[in-house]
Amino acid sequence: MPKVLIDPGHGPGNVNKGPTGYFEHVGMWILSKHLQAALIRCGISAALTRMEDAYPGTTARGAMAKGYDCFISQHSNAGAVSARGCEVYYSALRPNDKKWAAEIAIQSAQLMGNPNRGALTKGSAASPGQDYYGVIRAAAAAGCPHIFLVESGFHSNPQDEAWIKSSENLKKLAEAQAAILCQMLGVKYVAEVVKTAHWGEPLIRQMMDDKVIGSGHDPDDVVTWAELAAVIKNIKTG
Ligand SMILES: [Zn+2]
Repeated sequence: MPKVLIDPGHGPGNVNKGPTGYFEHVGMWILSKHLQAALIRCGISAALTRMEDAYPGTTARGAMAKGYDCFISQHSNAGAVSARGCEVYYSALRPNDKKWAAEIAIQSAQLMGNPNRGALTKGSAASPGQDYYGVIRAAAAAGCPHIFLVESGFHSNPQDEAWIKSSENLKKLAEAQAAILCQMLGVKYVAEVVKTAHWGEPLIRQMMDDKVIGSGHDPDDVVTWAELAAVIKNIKTG
């Protein structure tokens, strides 16, 4: 079973926020939990680098990637008010990850309706040949084979912020990420089964409202003669 480590990025106390109330550490926590659920549904072991109320440093979070097949760090970007779009960083030491990073960027931008800023690496000026971002550097040092840092839109832009404020939208992003990671790890992506309402449910609710039955039942449960007799008695006396 492949193992993915999801890094919800910044923790509480981080001040990155949008103009109308979005906080990066809140949005990226929600996105991470959606991704974790999607990966587990697909048969992938998925863990997080931190608890909701904790904020370990970048090196500590990246170092946790030891023994994992993939590390993905979740962020939303900040810049000029007009700047929008999605970009995905991969490690300069993992050039084969470029195509997966590019795929995540394409699909994220498509979902968000903003520019695709592409798959990028950022080198360290202080230590040439190393990655600039601490989490990526530490995950690479830990030997993790696939490392990504995703910037899902700019929370400093009102349109991008409005989009990522929605948990439903974040779920769409998470599902897109999950499908790509599944493909990368050779696992079949399994879409969520949405349970459709049974035609009998409103009828059963009506019987409860009319006090013909005391509690709700699964519409496909079988009924005994005793239960049927009780129902008829309740109709007569009701
Ligand atoms: Zn960030």
